[in-house]
Amino acid sequence: MSTENAATFDCPECDVTAPSTSVPYDSLGYVVCPVCGYAATPDAERSSGADRSSGAGD
Ligand SMILES: [Zn+2]
Repeated sequence: MSTENAATFDCPECDVTAPSTSVPYDSLGYVVCPVCGYAATPDAERSSGADRSSGAGD
């Protein structure tokens, strides 16, 4: 039996888990929680450091 470990998105905000293939993505390509709308942006983990290659604002 092939147990394919499909990528899943688990929201840290509402703790929902859904297959990455069935969740919406924002314009930047990040997964958006279908329940609470939380956007999983990796930038959020980075605190204000010295590595500012390009202003990724609005
Ligand atoms: Zn959520």
